Amino acid sequence: MVNLVNNLAVQHRKGLLKAGRADARILIVDDEVINRMVLSRMLRQRGFEVVEADNGRSAIKLLINENFDLVLLDLAMPMLDGLQTSRLLRQVRTKMQLPVIIVTASDERECVIEAFRSGANDYITKPIDQEIAIARIESQLQLKRAQEALRESEERYALAAQGSNDGLWDWNLYTGSVYFSQRWKTMLGLSPNEKLDTMSDWLERVHADDLLRVRNGLTAHLRGETQHFETELRMLHANNGYRWMLCRGLAVRNELGKAVRIAGSLSDITEGNVADALTSLPNRLLFVDRLQRCLDQCRRYPNRRFAVLYLDVDGFKLINDTYGHQTGDAFLIEMSRRLESAVRNSDSVVARLGGDEFAVLLENIRSELDATTVAERVIDAMATPFHIGGREVVTRASIGITTNSERCETADMLIREADSAMYFAKSNTHVRYKFFEPCMMEESAARLEMTSELRKALALNELTVQYQPIVDIQIGVTAGFEALARWTNSRFGSVPPSEFIPLAEESGLIVDIGSFVMQTACTQAVDLCAQGNRTIMMSVNVSPRQIISDALVENVQTTVQSSSLPYGCLKLEVTETTVMQDPDTSIQLLTALRDSGVAIGLDDFGTGYSSLAYLHRLPLSVLKIDRSFVVDMFNSQENLAIVETIIKLADSLKLDVIAEGVENAEQLIHLQKLGCKYVQGYYFCKPVKATEATELLHRNWTLPASLSTTGFLAD
Ligand code: C2E
Ligand code: CA
Ligand code: CA
Repeated sequence: MVNLVNNLAVQHRKGLLKAGRADARILIVDDEVINRMVLSRMLRQRGFEVVEADNGRSAIKLLINENFDLVLLDLAMPMLDGLQTSRLLRQVRTKMQLPVIIVTASDERECVIEAFRSGANDYITKPIDQEIAIARIESQLQLKRAQEALRESEERYALAAQGSNDGLWDWNLYTGSVYFSQRWKTMLGLSPNEKLDTMSDWLERVHADDLLRVRNGLTAHLRGETQHFETELRMLHANNGYRWMLCRGLAVRNELGKAVRIAGSLSDITEGNVADALTSLPNRLLFVDRLQRCLDQCRRYPNRRFAVLYLDVDGFKLINDTYGHQTGDAFLIEMSRRLESAVRNSDSVVARLGGDEFAVLLENIRSELDATTVAERVIDAMATPFHIGGREVVTRASIGITTNSERCETADMLIREADSAMYFAKSNTHVRYKFFEPCMMEESAARLEMTSELRKALALNELTVQYQPIVDIQIGVTAGFEALARWTNSRFGSVPPSEFIPLAEESGLIVDIGSFVMQTACTQAVDLCAQGNRTIMMSVNVSPRQIISDALVENVQTTVQSSSLPYGCLKLEVTETTVMQDPDTSIQLLTALRDSGVAIGLDDFGTGYSSLAYLHRLPLSVLKIDRSFVVDMFNSQENLAIVETIIKLADSLKLDVIAEGVENAEQLIHLQKLGCKYVQGYYFCKPVKATEATELLHRNWTLPASLSTTGFLAD
């Protein structure tokens, strides 16, 4: 039984050993044939390939011409003994290349020492204990393989380090020492011999604003929370400037997963990092850097003033979504050229912060007036239509401006201020640029919260639709209604559309909200037509986002069909600005809608960029005079003239005209005199709930005395 177990053990070892050593070739050098035979058999049994030599000279010859992994060298041989052979051998092969084990009959001290001096790696004594001999041979072979692997990888590493433009670093977490390659040092303008070997040598060169991120990134990776460490950081160069670096690293972990070492590279990305690849303008990184420097300088020279302009151009998203990225890119490039030439100031930085966000830093201004001048030049430059890929594109720039103040300690804060001021300029039709005021910050936070509430509004049934009658002032009856969205939220209460519609447009929620309004209004219109026993017109507002969505035509058609709305009952109101952003596409789309029986009204007419050439080509049936002209009709000659012109224009184009925002009899009388047929306004009625709309349908509106007379005479 014991024998069987032993045998199995031997077999098992043989198998294992064979697998491990199939490629190990051993040279046995011994003058005694019997010794050679014993050793050979022992080694062959374990799977080694064995070659024998009976003297030192033929051994050297073999070693020069063939490859061996290890030599077993008998010490006592005639002519060339073991020590001499070993010394000769070391002239052609190093200890690492070829391990030599001396086989000696004596384990006397002197003899062993002499063997090692001659270049032997180890020794075994006769009579040979098989297990010990094998263990020593194995250990030498293992060592040799490990060293070879190490050398190979070191060579690869050295080659990689030489060939690469990157600096290398290697942090031993046990000792705390860090190896920095020469390139690592020269990248920062240091001498290759500069003595650096700790992490603080490194971290003290990291820009204060990046330090926390670097530390957190390293810690997270060492804890095993990230797959690798990678961060962009600024590092101090010997010339006292900062360079942008990309730092990557990977931890080496022990069996327990604990990091024992972390090594990686450092690449200088300053060049690629500061220019935006598309427009070649400085990018956000450089912009932030310059801004930060301005801030730092202001601490030393408190009288210095600078300004940040944040620019937004309406319509970029439309262009991108409608024509694809190539056209979008062409637009951005053209836009940056215009921006640069509008700013044309050596003390300024024009940067693309990302997407369609652009910013300008005016490094030295005397007063806010300087910033205003630049803002106006930029607005003018953007107002000229763009010609891109054979298309004319009209845009409108909005600019937010902020100047340095006690409030802002960081570049990011300044950018955020200018950004929120921009939002105010953008949401106000009559203002193109706006200086930052502290209340704007709170409002932008509120806007974010409101958007997230709005996201849930449809699901929570918080949205409803109200209807404002459009009155035919020639006969004093309700000709139709405009459907207007309403939102009542549990936190914000009743939010006016002037607040939530822009949020819905920005966030894209308008597409869903728009179809909800359309659906509801169509259903309501079917009811109203039935109750009034006549065709009434239902107007629904359509936002720019909906116009570009491919689904609009199909959506409208399905809605009309599913609600069985009589043909010609639905009118879509688009604003002039929406249409003029991309007249060609709008004309195509609106024509398709008109062909399927939908009337088109041009809303807010007079407020945007009017191009009469396009007005002829648009499939319109109605022009709406914007409320702002009506409100001011008697205070401003100009407004009165505009109202008059629009009515005449509509007449010559054979379009109906609706005046919005009529609040008093005086306005009404005058509009009627000018030949305006339809009126919408608080004078008659505010928007009402669906349940109240039916009553308005049957109402005979009382018109001012003078008007009804005029009306009669006209009839
Ligand atoms: P709008 O299309 O120009 O709508 C007319 C606005 O003028 C409505 O404001 C209406 O209540 C108001 N109005 C009418 N008569 C008078 C008046 O005599 N005096 C005054 N001071 N205001 C009057 P509302 O309902 O607040 O809507 C504001 C804007 O919100 C609308 O302007 C429209 O652009 C947008 N909007 C409303 N509902 C929708 C919708 O369902 N979809 C889209 N895309 N936009 C909508
Ligand atoms: Ca409207
Ligand atoms: Ca309007």
